[in-house]
Amino acid sequence: MARDLGTKYVCYKCGTKFYDLKKPVPTCPKCGADQREAPVAKPLSARAAKVAAAKEPEEVEAAADDEEAEEKEEDEED
Ligand SMILES: [Zn+2]
Repeated sequence: MARDLGTKYVCYKCGTKFYDLKKPVPTCPKCGADQREAPVAKPLSARAAKVAAAKEPEEVEAAADDEEAEEKEEDEED
């Protein structure tokens, strides 16, 4: 088991999987890319976080609608 390797990353440039070894700057051991500069992998900016949050409610609503429809059908049969 890997315990003290820190956070796992997948390099956004070359796809290499590595751990940051708890270093302050997570850089890819192969290409040296600073993972904090990764383009869109994580919602680092407030704007990206808003976009991600805006997408989730739609899915939840759709699921709730399905459940409601099923309950109504049962009621009518009674
Ligand atoms: Zn890399």
